[in-house]
Amino acid sequence: MMQQYLALKAEADDCLLFYRMGDFFELFHDDAKIAAACLDIALTARGEHDGAKIPMCGVPVHSAEGYLARLIKAGHRVAIAEQVESPEEAKRARGSKALVARAIVRVVTAGTLTEEALLDARAANWCACIGEAAGGVAIAAADVSTGRFEVIETDAAGLTAALARLQAVEVVAAETSTFAEVATLLRARADFDSASGEARLKALHGVATLDGFGQFSRAALAAAGGLIAYLDHTARGQLPFLRPPVCAADGQCMAIDAATRESLELTRTAAGARAGSLLAEVDRTVTGAGARLLASDIAAPLMDRAMIEGRHAAVAWAHDDPGLRDELRTTLRALPDIGRALGRIAARRGSPRDLGQLRDGLSAAWTLGQRLDKLPAVPPLIVELAPRLRGHGELIDLLTRGLVPMPPIDAAAGGFVAEGYDAALDALRDTGAGGRRAIAALEAQYRERTGISALKIRHNGVLGYHVEVPARAADKLMAADSGFTHRQTLAGVVRFNAPDLHEAALKVTQAGAHALAAEAAHLEAFTEAALDKREAIAATADALARIDVTAALAERAAEGGWARPVLVDHSCLEIVGGRHPVVESAVARSGGRFVANDCRLSESSRLWLVTGPNMGGKSTFLRQNALIVVLAQAGSFVPATSATLGLVDRLFSRVGASDNLARGRSTFMVEMVETAAILAQATPRSFVILDEVGRGTSTYDGLAIAWAVVEAIHEDNRCRCLFATHYHELTRLAERCDALSLHHVRAREWKGDLVLLHELAEGPADRSYGIAVARLAGLPPATLQRAKAVLAKLEAGKAKTGGIAAGLDDLPLFAAMAPVEEAPVDGLREALGALDVDAMSPREAMEALYRLKGLV
Ligand code: ADP
Repeated sequence: MMQQYLALKAEADDCLLFYRMGDFFELFHDDAKIAAACLDIALTARGEHDGAKIPMCGVPVHSAEGYLARLIKAGHRVAIAEQVESPEEAKRARGSKALVARAIVRVVTAGTLTEEALLDARAANWCACIGEAAGGVAIAAADVSTGRFEVIETDAAGLTAALARLQAVEVVAAETSTFAEVATLLRARADFDSASGEARLKALHGVATLDGFGQFSRAALAAAGGLIAYLDHTARGQLPFLRPPVCAADGQCMAIDAATRESLELTRTAAGARAGSLLAEVDRTVTGAGARLLASDIAAPLMDRAMIEGRHAAVAWAHDDPGLRDELRTTLRALPDIGRALGRIAARRGSPRDLGQLRDGLSAAWTLGQRLDKLPAVPPLIVELAPRLRGHGELIDLLTRGLVPMPPIDAAAGGFVAEGYDAALDALRDTGAGGRRAIAALEAQYRERTGISALKIRHNGVLGYHVEVPARAADKLMAADSGFTHRQTLAGVVRFNAPDLHEAALKVTQAGAHALAAEAAHLEAFTEAALDKREAIAATADALARIDVTAALAERAAEGGWARPVLVDHSCLEIVGGRHPVVESAVARSGGRFVANDCRLSESSRLWLVTGPNMGGKSTFLRQNALIVVLAQAGSFVPATSATLGLVDRLFSRVGASDNLARGRSTFMVEMVETAAILAQATPRSFVILDEVGRGTSTYDGLAIAWAVVEAIHEDNRCRCLFATHYHELTRLAERCDALSLHHVRAREWKGDLVLLHELAEGPADRSYGIAVARLAGLPPATLQRAKAVLAKLEAGKAKTGGIAAGLDDLPLFAAMAPVEEAPVDGLREALGALDVDAMSPREAMEALYRLKGLV
């Protein structure tokens, strides 16, 4: 057995091996130690290997899912070795001592799950693969729980942004990959060959050419090939359902890099939680598929104006009619997750319950489609979806006739095929039922015949149907002519068989076995019928999700009094009465009121410099405008009275280093690297928010860097930008940069207390209020007094010398770029011209040099 185990373990490579033994999955050696620690189960020992005891632990097969979930969550991958023949088969084939053959039937990994219990219903589950070829980079990603399949053409710079958008749970790359460090698993180079990738992709979808799916670079084919090979490896040849690949190129969506996503907390907070993110704040979806689609919408705001406006129109439709919105949401709430049910069925892990879910979901979709047809003024986006909701008539009919109303999860016990669907099955069931009635009747007969009122007919797996009597009454049945045959004596009871019982029992068991076989055949047929239509079913699931997202965004907009954004072609960002949805909710929860603020960026006023006291609301203002842009381009209404914007191609958000230091992540170096990325990438159509950049270093350095960055953004990038800073000195830039304007968050001192108004006003802040903020924060009075005294000294010094910014006013704009002034010495030119270098000795050359130097 150990030999067989070790062979399988070698095949399982670095996965934990679940080795099936009867009703348990056992783990041995190091696997056992790891699993016992992770699952908090007992570590025992069994036998010996190389003279040492073999550590072992095990989990029951029937509850293995829960244990698997924990191991996967902890980052492990698990290979499942099943018994692939019965002990009887093994004995028949290879003698009485033969070991049951086992094989790895599946490798369970985070990125290849389909089980409901192992997945988050409201999040997609991407497995991504990086491909490189011909100097290009691409990602192929699959969510096998629903069959989604994306191919993303990118480059080295866009790779991490694309992975951050997907939040892939598994990232696979070739062992030779340049990007090995971002991968969670490295696999053989051979799997990532673009030519075989192309062949795999064609074979998967049964096509002779990929033209129908779009254009694929060699890198994309390499990525797709690597992905399919990996899925094939984990599923052991039973490749899961993948829909035709959707090609996404950089540029189709707003580019948002990983740092910006993190800083804006779009789909999860910096700590990694969904709660507290923009997504959680906006999400009012009522289905898992809707929640997954909303997450992907917010992670990938669109760049196509017509598509965005199509979404806005649909949200407006559901927004303006509360009755309709309620009706849609009530209908959707009751829907099963047909996308995931289909994923399980396609992976051959589907249950009768999954088919029941398809039936219920598809028929609800049908009804919804009919309803939509009758409604007036349905927007084009929804009109387009309606046909996808209908059109599963045959399958619904088949599953309605074929399945009981509430099919069980476990197919093995049967009982899921509806009565009246198959006459032969009904007859078998009748025979079984008749047999059971006959057996019940026998019990009465036997009691009468033997006079033992405690006699019972029982059933178990070993003896089948048998007669059971209390031990004290057994003698009567032991008699040779009693008509009963002794089978078993236990403490207290004795068990017998009887010929007529045997005959009736045989009928029941045979009818039962035939009925089970018939049901299994029907299950297979139902599964095939569903899989035949998988593409159309997946499209229906998508349509339902889109309707859910539409109604949910409408609901959120109605709840918060949000406005429908207006898109324009020029580069502006005009938000009136804008709010930060997450901060607004938090402020409201603590009984406060959020102060709405306007943002008016245009081509002639591209850059706002925002100053004001700490805690005054600068970051909140910056972020709310970035979030409004994301929401608007994702197709949502926005938290504002009105919003007009020109499409944003790239969004950047950077926060000065010291804000991040608390999390132990960022350093000044990272801040500068990220700022460099903005200066290199931001275009005139981009939107950049920079919060306290330069703060992670000394005052002089910081001010100098912030100054130079503002100048570069204003002059070179020419993007829309909000720049918050506590360097008051930067306000002098307003005089030299014509598209830069000054704003501040207002504060007042009232009876010695600082009141933060969180209100944006024009012009620079009048003073910094740092000590007042310190007082708000509860710094001891003595320390505050001391600080005031130091400040007074410093300010006196500043008046004399001009302070830290002394001399800045004389700084020429872009000094570094101004042409270097010409040497003023005409005599030098003349003297140089007079030299005949070829005729000079080294000594004369030396003397000439000295002479020239003297002229300067
Ligand atoms: P700063 O960046 O100027 O230090 P923040 O933007 O971090 O200030 O805001 C500090 C706190 O003030 C927030 O956590 C929030 O509670 C509150 N706040 C900010 N903006 C507003 C607003 N517009 N209305 C109400 N409260 C606000």
